[in-house]
Amino acid sequence: MAKSIGVTLSERILAGLVVDHHLQGPLCCYPQNQEEVDALVELPTDSLVRTIADEIVACAAGATDIAAIGVALPGLIRNGVVEEAPNLPQLKGARIGVLLTAELVSRGFNTSVNILNDADGMAAGLAARHGKLDHLIRVWTLGVGIGYGRYPFAPGVWEGGHTVVTLDEKEQYCGCGGRGHMEGIMGHRAMRLRFLDMEPDEVFAAAKAGDPRCL
Ligand SMILES: [Zn+2]
Repeated sequence: MAKSIGVTLSERILAGLVVDHHLQGPLCCYPQNQEEVDALVELPTDSLVRTIADEIVACAAGATDIAAIGVALPGLIRNGVVEEAPNLPQLKGARIGVLLTAELVSRGFNTSVNILNDADGMAAGLAARHGKLDHLIRVWTLGVGIGYGRYPFAPGVWEGGHTVVTLDEKEQYCGCGGRGHMEGIMGHRAMRLRFLDMEPDEVFAAAKAGDPRCL
């Protein structure tokens, strides 16, 4: 039985215990109140690392045989360092791998920590969940932002959501401040800004019904 803990970080931190590629037990989350969508954006890096460690410890629930910890972060990650994080700007340059390992060691966890891009994590998770670890998996993820990920992991830069897809000067809804980015058109936050009167799922529903603005 291989036990690991997986953590994802987007608008919230979610952590789960994974046994033989299957989620076991409930997810631990921070903040518990789903309405608090800006809780992480306001946290400085040190507090964020401590909060991730809190969720990992809660998730382990006293188990001492955790083989690995994986943390999926939105942004460009290289060797445990966050090189770019358009949606969590305070993380830019943070050596999350080293910081989180040290924080966990101080709490008695001597487990290897792997930090990766969230879309790459999604691709790896799908591969493991569906018994396709010997396949090449490529995914687009739709969340707060838009991600592009692949498994097996390969070094490279592909912040898919920040690809320029239009030169229209008015297309400035991307959270990173860039102009004409795909995420500024299809991203959750961007859609809320563009359609102040509708939620993204209502926009998709209205588009299916033929509403020209939503189409
Ligand atoms: Zn962007």
